[in-house]
Amino acid sequence: MFNKRVIIKDLLTWEPGSQEVTVMGWVRTFRNGQFIALNDGSTNSNLQVVLDLGKYGSEFQKRIAVSAALKINGTVIASPGKGQKLELKATSVEILGDSDPEKYPLQPKKHSLEFLREIAHLRFRTNTFGSVFRIRHALAFAIHKFFNDKGFLYMHTPIISASDAEGAGELFKVTTLPLENIPKNENGSVNFKEDFFERSTNLTVSGQLEAELGATAFGNVYTFGPTFRAENSNTARHLAEFWMIEPEMAFYDLEDNMNLAEEFIKYIIKYAVAHNREDLEFLTQRLEDEEKHLPQDKRSEMSLLQKLEFVLQHEFERITYTEAVEILKESNYNKKEKFRFPVTGWGMDMQSEHERYLVEKHFKKPVIIRNYPKEIKAFYMRQNEDGKTVTAMDILVPGIGEIVGGSQREERLDRLEQRMKEMNIPEKDLWWYLDIRRFGTVPHSGFGLGFERMVQFVTGMTNIRDVIAFPRTPGNAEF
Ligand code: ATP
Ligand code: MN
Repeated sequence: MFNKRVIIKDLLTWEPGSQEVTVMGWVRTFRNGQFIALNDGSTNSNLQVVLDLGKYGSEFQKRIAVSAALKINGTVIASPGKGQKLELKATSVEILGDSDPEKYPLQPKKHSLEFLREIAHLRFRTNTFGSVFRIRHALAFAIHKFFNDKGFLYMHTPIISASDAEGAGELFKVTTLPLENIPKNENGSVNFKEDFFERSTNLTVSGQLEAELGATAFGNVYTFGPTFRAENSNTARHLAEFWMIEPEMAFYDLEDNMNLAEEFIKYIIKYAVAHNREDLEFLTQRLEDEEKHLPQDKRSEMSLLQKLEFVLQHEFERITYTEAVEILKESNYNKKEKFRFPVTGWGMDMQSEHERYLVEKHFKKPVIIRNYPKEIKAFYMRQNEDGKTVTAMDILVPGIGEIVGGSQREERLDRLEQRMKEMNIPEKDLWWYLDIRRFGTVPHSGFGLGFERMVQFVTGMTNIRDVIAFPRTPGNAEF
């Protein structure tokens, strides 16, 4: 059997007592012809492996290069050196895979994140990305655990969709029509009757509408899957392919919805803080080092771990959209014309600089804004009695801005139909969505959490391209 290896993360917790073990992993460094720092991806910490001096010939030693894959048998002993409790005294070393140091692009030094993006197939082998992706994994697991423990049903909504009802962003078309010879109707439009689905289809921008169908049968459901938006916004918080968590709950009003969202966000942060201590400590240090060259007033007031603890210990601020606009209008920032986009007043769609002002400068903690003008929100949000606003809520967090968008859904058929008419959304495309309001309609609510933005918040990574394995952005679909 090949796979009788001890995982380094486990091994490092042992009491050294001359146990004989096999480990496998990749070389991080090799010093003095004697000390190998071996990493197997289970933890940021390397296992120190000690070779008998002179036991291996110089040809063999040369092959113990950065990122070479090794299988090592040895005995676990207390380490006389500083920095580790134990080490592995090697009895045999086998090279499973060589790594030519002349060609290997990663060296044991600091590389820029931009450079690492170009070699995203190798960047997992760095400490930073090791930590980021172990945390990403833990957050994904925590999300399923949170909802499962609460009795939510995990629902898989379709990736290929025929509806563009949401208007959430530009769509990626899905087609098997020959691009060089597209069949046309007499009036010149594309003849989708000849396409695979005999209609126009696209990659989904959200699983919400289908999740609502599930919620009105199962009570509480959630989706967790990829969504696609061909938005040409080259920002540090937008991807063309990103993962979204979308719970939908029957018998929930907006307040229930906000309560769930806050509990949920705190739960998954708490999970990471409890289970990814080492990785978070590493990323905390990394951020501190990165900010060292900045002037004092540009540095974060709190370290990454302090920020996470702070979020766990404090209630999210809850304000209305109207209050938010007032605060922006009255702010010194606005009076000194420091915003790039002026605060025009009630009805404005807040830009990310406005959102970040509210969370970072004014409240200095996560904020939930509710009751937005209906003109800037989607058709399915429940209309308030004032005739102007809808029961929507966004959650904003420091460093990122919007992380959650949600609402109570319009459950009254006549109101929904009227709003769809006003917004020119054809009823025939959404007959199934309207049916839910015909047969046992109930007050219900839900929200969408952008998974990568959550991972950004927890890891402190400033660019969203660095928290997904292989980012899809305008002009970039490598790997
Ligand atoms: P934004 O204003 O930041 O573009 P949005 O209003 O388009 O966000 P929603 O349609 O409400 O966002 O989507 C729900 C959540 O999905 C957002 O709160 C955000 O966390 C995430 N999200 C939206 N667009 C993207 C994207 N292009 N890349 C990554 N995450 C996204
Ligand atoms: Mn958007």
